[in-house]
Amino acid sequence: MAAIVFLEVCLGLFRFFAGASIFSFLHVVTCRLPAGEPVVCGRSHCPECGKILTGFELIPCLSYVLQKGKCRACKASIPPGYLILEVWGGVCFLWSGAMFGWGSWGILSWKAAAAFAYLSVLTVAAVIDWNTRIIYDRFHIMIFLLGVVSFWVFPEHGLWDRMIGAVIVSFPMLALALCIEGAFGGGDIKLMACSGFLLGWKAVVCGMFLGLLAGGIYCIPMMAAGRLGRKDSFAFGPFLAFGLSLAFFYGDRIADWYLALLR
Ligand SMILES: [Zn+2]
Repeated sequence: MAAIVFLEVCLGLFRFFAGASIFSFLHVVTCRLPAGEPVVCGRSHCPECGKILTGFELIPCLSYVLQKGKCRACKASIPPGYLILEVWGGVCFLWSGAMFGWGSWGILSWKAAAAFAYLSVLTVAAVIDWNTRIIYDRFHIMIFLLGVVSFWVFPEHGLWDRMIGAVIVSFPMLALALCIEGAFGGGDIKLMACSGFLLGWKAVVCGMFLGLLAGGIYCIPMMAAGRLGRKDSFAFGPFLAFGLSLAFFYGDRIADWYLALLR
């Protein structure tokens, strides 16, 4: 019994670190893409002193904690975003597997891998949008391609479901953006269009509501504290990404529950 628990814990840790390692790389992507640096070339280095990181310093989460969030060479503090993104990567990996099952070899099933891929793209898009207020078209294309692949992985969502999903949120957003200047950015509208194609109409509507809710929860205290004016705009992409992440797992169920209330 104890041996089984031990093996389960080891497997859980292995899975967590698999996700954390992938997101550790994605953190590099969020730094290098907006700076116009090549994503895969060049060893990881300290942004302050340029010290090339050793194998130990590349271990996700653990190296940050053991180094107490400081570079070993120059003692410059490493932004906590590194650790947060790595932990989030581990959580995403475990979350995807727990919701959609583990495949052979104990790694992600196809459905879970699709979920993890979507969470990865959303996370990178959200971090870059937060820092630069831009959602790159390449992320929209990746989500659209994931939608095409998911015809096989998630056959329960048919073509009509996906086609309606692509327009049901994005068209009203587009109409609002045309009427009210700065209501939504083009990147946000495209994000909802391609996500709707991936998720189907119920889940994407749910994702929009959750995103608006999260945006509201962020805005109201910021406005009350005077740090955000009535006319100020802010990056909405991260809130949409949050809503869409939840919607990927729970959107259909939340929508069915809500529709049952209306009957
Ligand atoms: Zn350094």
